Amino acid sequence: MRNIKSLMRFLALVLALIPALAAAGGVDVERMRVWPAPDNTRVVFDMSGPVKYQIFTIPNPDRVVIDVDQAQVIAPLNKPDGDLRLLKGVRWGERAGGGLRMVLDVAHSVQVRTAMLGPNRQYGHRLLVDLVDQAPADAAPLAGTPLKAEPPTLASNAPSLSPSSPAPAAFRADDGSRDVVVAVDAGHGGDDPGATGGNGTQEKDITLSIARRLAAVINQQKGMRAVLIRKGDYFIPLRERMEKAREQKADLFVSIHADSYRDPRIRGSSVYVLSQRGASSEAARWLADQENASDLVGGVTLDDKDAQLKSVLLDLSQTAAIEASVNVAGKVLTELDDVGNVHHREVQRAGFVVLKSPDIPSILVETAYITNPQEEKKLRNPAHQQALAQAIAQGVHDYFEDNPPPGTLMAQLRQSRMTAAR
Ligand SMILES: [Zn+2]
Repeated sequence: MRNIKSLMRFLALVLALIPALAAAGGVDVERMRVWPAPDNTRVVFDMSGPVKYQIFTIPNPDRVVIDVDQAQVIAPLNKPDGDLRLLKGVRWGERAGGGLRMVLDVAHSVQVRTAMLGPNRQYGHRLLVDLVDQAPADAAPLAGTPLKAEPPTLASNAPSLSPSSPAPAAFRADDGSRDVVVAVDAGHGGDDPGATGGNGTQEKDITLSIARRLAAVINQQKGMRAVLIRKGDYFIPLRERMEKAREQKADLFVSIHADSYRDPRIRGSSVYVLSQRGASSEAARWLADQENASDLVGGVTLDDKDAQLKSVLLDLSQTAAIEASVNVAGKVLTELDDVGNVHHREVQRAGFVVLKSPDIPSILVETAYITNPQEEKKLRNPAHQQALAQAIAQGVHDYFEDNPPPGTLMAQLRQSRMTAAR
């Protein structure tokens, strides 16, 4: 009896304190993170809870104002060093009628996309603000992002190319000599680090490094050209990665990743293609969930319906694309076997969103297990990264040597080889 009474008294005290705590506290703005991409800059505020907010832009000078009810900044919000392109500065203070006002000073007028995101496996509550460049997307490359792996032909879509300039070779209309185009996608990026190794290696850094090497190796091959989907440390939503590959008229899409598992002994590479009817194993399904969660971490998918409808309509062409994907994947797997351990001897199938292009053969390479200490060390090693890139490029080259798309230089070369052999 006494116990119940004291419990009731305690509860009454707690209940009395809750409104006081809420009024005094509100939500803490803990940290600001910034990810500049070529055509937008993502600003993420980590918060102790969800907030109600209003966001609007003001010109002269251009700035974005975020008013948050019941919140305070608990540690200085520092703008990261370096050229963030759109974001020039950040200020904050208490609003006249109470609440918090944060101001982002921006370089010129921007469009704003925003969302309040709940906790996931990496982060807690986040207020996400995308500053979208209204200038054309051919703006200057990001500071410190080497673009040397890419040939100048990439600029062919840019308005800077005057009508009098000769068309770059790779884009010459079907005169039978175009390059085979390989889209190389470095998994994750920006506020989506991917998996993390025991020594703190982040998957997004490893994938970018291997992807750059792979693109460079492909560009050395006659009749082949690589397009890097992600060129720096920023996030691109999964379906946008596919769109970028399509814009570049890619003949193949290769997504680079590093695997993870709770058992650190597990190791080796795997190569995946899209499965139309469920993953080939429970582990594959688990992995697909992990990789697809990228969009929940980094991306707010805005007009997904259209893409989904398209992929339903193009189901038939997808079957052909998957057959081609299995073929390439098998060749890449054979080459990877010579570099290190192979985890799965067969090509794996899983429902990775990023592989869902209905018309472009697509493969996903899990280069090694970042959660295996030996493999984590290898993944950081430039020589090993190069060996992985070379193996993948060799597998891709072998595939296109046998199956060159019509109208390509590789098709022409194959034709003359066959004639010579006759
Ligand atoms: Zn990954």
